[in-house]
Amino acid sequence: MSTTSNDSPLILRIALPVTLRRLFDYLPPENGDLSLVRPGMRLTVPFGRRKVTGILIDTATHSDFPIEKLKRADVPLDQEAVITDDILQLCRWAATYYQYSLGDTLSQALPVMLRQGYDLSKEAHTCWRPASDIDPAILGKLNRAPRQQATWEIVKTHPTGATEVALKALGAETAMLKKLAEKGLTESYSHIPEKRPFHSYDPILKTSELVLNHEQQQALEAITCDANRFSTTLLHGVTGSGKTEVYLQAIHNTLKQQQQALVLVPEIGLTPQTLERFRNRFNVPVTVLHSGLNDRERLNGWLSAFHGEAGIIIGTRSSIFTPMPYLGLIIVDEEHDLSYKQQDSIRYSARDLAIYRGKLRDVPVVLGSATPSLESLHNAKNHRYRYQKLNQRAGNAKPPYLELVDIRGKQLNAGLSETVEQAIHQTLQRGEQALVFLNQRGYAPTLSCNECGHLMDCPQCDAHLTLHRTPPHLHCHHCDLQRPIPLQCPHCNSRHLAPVGQGTERSEEVLARQFRNTKVLRIDRDSTRRKTALSDMLTIIHKGEPAILVGTQMLAKGHHFPKVTLVVILNADSGFFSADFRGPEKVGQLLLQVAGRAGRSTRPGHVIIQTQFPENQQLQQLVTQGYDAFAESLLVQRQSISLPPFGYMALLTAEATHANDAHQFLETVASHAQQIIQTQNLAGPMGVKVLGPMPAAMEKRQGRYRMQLFLQGVSRGPLHTLLNHLVPAMESSPLGRKIRWSVDVDPLEI
Ligand code: ADP
Ligand code: ZN
Ligand code: ZN
Repeated sequence: MSTTSNDSPLILRIALPVTLRRLFDYLPPENGDLSLVRPGMRLTVPFGRRKVTGILIDTATHSDFPIEKLKRADVPLDQEAVITDDILQLCRWAATYYQYSLGDTLSQALPVMLRQGYDLSKEAHTCWRPASDIDPAILGKLNRAPRQQATWEIVKTHPTGATEVALKALGAETAMLKKLAEKGLTESYSHIPEKRPFHSYDPILKTSELVLNHEQQQALEAITCDANRFSTTLLHGVTGSGKTEVYLQAIHNTLKQQQQALVLVPEIGLTPQTLERFRNRFNVPVTVLHSGLNDRERLNGWLSAFHGEAGIIIGTRSSIFTPMPYLGLIIVDEEHDLSYKQQDSIRYSARDLAIYRGKLRDVPVVLGSATPSLESLHNAKNHRYRYQKLNQRAGNAKPPYLELVDIRGKQLNAGLSETVEQAIHQTLQRGEQALVFLNQRGYAPTLSCNECGHLMDCPQCDAHLTLHRTPPHLHCHHCDLQRPIPLQCPHCNSRHLAPVGQGTERSEEVLARQFRNTKVLRIDRDSTRRKTALSDMLTIIHKGEPAILVGTQMLAKGHHFPKVTLVVILNADSGFFSADFRGPEKVGQLLLQVAGRAGRSTRPGHVIIQTQFPENQQLQQLVTQGYDAFAESLLVQRQSISLPPFGYMALLTAEATHANDAHQFLETVASHAQQIIQTQNLAGPMGVKVLGPMPAAMEKRQGRYRMQLFLQGVSRGPLHTLLNHLVPAMESSPLGRKIRWSVDVDPLEI
């Protein structure tokens, strides 16, 4: 780092974990050795009355603030940058693109322990060795201190040094080592683990690879042909087509070059099975990063990547920020999955960041899915991505047969039509397993009064309270509010209260009654809360005895259940009629993902989709023509109204306890936006439009009223010019400081 000139002091420009979108100037620590300070290192600094951990971004010789007002930073916490160059660039890009504070972004990129200032040198080993320049006179008098002498004899035999722990094992004493150091006879140093690539693992393969079919082979070649250059490949493979096998072989290629692979998976896609496949295949350390880890485990995982020891990192969204010195390949599995988009603080898309990181590091990126997002399909069509299709299921598995069942006016037994009951019965008789999918956990979506029709609503949200029976309570799935189940209607005091609609608990109960001698396993967020609950149930499923699995989208993804031959979707309709323009895309993806669990092994699969709208064209097209045709017609629709991926969008949301505050704030933001559009020349056909303010789809949530403003543009440039001017103004507006507001660039949920 540059040294200070005499007249202008060196200023440290530091990113702090605060929401303000700017850097902060500090003076260097007193007596600090600045020659060792690098961007990306952590420093503790005074901030208001607190001390916070910041990241050094840059140095300057000039500050916009009077020098005498600047405070001093403490000495750096690190001996090397914990935010590596590429992570710093990635975070800078993300903070700019998603309009968020760089300091907060960097803080999120680090494991919690490092955010909180944990001293990494504690990970280092203290070592001792004989000093280089020893005074023989002092050495000659050492026999007067027998304990020091004894320790000296041990150190002396290790001229290149040894860890304190090892020396103590031979009889050396810490206190004596220190006394000897005072006399100039010994010196201590800390040994920081070196970056150790894992290439010592030989052979790399633990188990042999499958022989790829022709389509898989072509996909592998597309990914690996320029293994040391950036490219993005969209691997569009129907469920069960062997995408994971392609990933594994691409990773093998990466490992052979002594490079590391990063595999992103959706939160609920991280099944023990998937992990096993990676661990069983390779003789390299596989590090897993997911939300179930405690802070220490997360730090350990991070360190193994940082030091280059881990050959493969498998992790959820935030793993995109894992430092990897030998990164050679990035895979984003189930790239369409909504969990890749963070829905609070910095609203980034890990998939999009993966592509940016691939570009930064010049390595290939693979996006895999059976149901790619319209964005990725569009990019593939425009040749921004390589496109590889796997049309066949791998091995001998056949595609499942999809059937729509009209439930209008039909007698249903807790949501199940007779056709479905029979199909389940036959499946069990053949010794196979059935999967019943519904996207509602709890017993029923709500409870209603038979006398007056009153529904139990959440007092804090525009939503019903969900009825749960195990344990019994009413629960708001939006704000977590819980209430006892009332015995009487709060409106008319009637005692005739009844559940409305189906939840997984109720389906489980009804199915268990109907199929008495069969195991019914419910898999949803409630039933899997206990740490080993999911893997326990998966073990039972894999035993292969006849069983019925009931569950939410936790059952939809990533699982390979060889015995499941029947999949039942209780109700497919709601997503097609949602206010969100992505509704049909999301429901189509979900239906096919669930359907894809059927018949993945030797026996053929059958999928029954119950609907009240069998003439719904989108649903029909999905079922009869498949995802490609379905996606294609959605793309045509989106193009006709310039919605993403044919246009770009940012969503500004304001929340306040009084609806009027949120509305007023966005009114001023909207008129400010119009001014910017005028002065910056952002109007016209290629320009930006401002829509709103209008109430959010769920206007009240957690006791706050939510208003939204949409900014829409045909191209990215003008939209971002507008944001770059508008967001700083929002930040400094007095009303903006009083209420909560957020910016969501490329929103997935509106
Ligand atoms: P996907 O990831 O596309 O859902 P998987 O990679 O899980 O598909 O493959 C589905 C099943 O097919 C797995 O049991 C896998 O072992 C098997 N499989 C994959 N590729 C091949 C192949 N080339 N030959 C034989 N079996 C394969
Ligand atoms: Zn009532
Ligand atoms: Zn609520």
